[in-house]
Amino acid sequence: MSELNKKWQARFMDMAFMVATWSKDPSTQVGAVIIDGNHIVSMGFNGYPHGVEDRADDREIKYLKTIHAEENAILHANRNINGCSLFATHLPCPNCCAKIIQVGISQVFIPHQTDDYLSRWGDKVKVSMGMFNECGVSVIQMERSSKSNPHPVGASESAYARNK
Ligand SMILES: [Zn+2]
Repeated sequence: MSELNKKWQARFMDMAFMVATWSKDPSTQVGAVIIDGNHIVSMGFNGYPHGVEDRADDREIKYLKTIHAEENAILHANRNINGCSLFATHLPCPNCCAKIIQVGISQVFIPHQTDDYLSRWGDKVKVSMGMFNECGVSVIQMERSSKSNPHPVGASESAYARNK
C-alpha cells in the first residue's frame, strides 16, 4: 500500500469518526464511509429512519427501530457498490456484516480493537470475523492518528500520524 493510500485511509477513518458525531443516539455513535478508490460513495451513522420521531424509547424498542451506520451507508449509496471499501468506527455487527458481504464490499477498515472491546463483544466479534473470513472480505485494523484521536496511541505504533 502506497504512502498516499495510507494518508487517505487515515482521512477516511477520520471522516467515519466525524460522521459518527452526527448520530443523535446518546449512548452509541457509529459512523461508516463507503469508498471507491479515493472517492467517497456514501456515508452513514446510526439512527432512526427519516420521519420516525426520536422519542425516549426503551432500549429494546430503540434497537428495533435503529438503522446502523453501515446499513445507512449502503442504503444511501444508491449505486452498485460491489468491490468498494467501507470504513467504520467499530467492527460491524453480524447483521451489518451480512449486508456488507451481500452488496460485495471487499475491504472493511476499522480502528484497532482494544482487548476491552473484544472481551465485551466477544461472541459478536467472533461471528462477524467468521463471516468476513468465510467470504473473503479483508478486515484491516488501523491505528488512529494522534491528531484525531483523543487518546493518542504510542508514537511507535502511530504509523498514520507519521505519514501525515
Ligand atoms: Zn450493525
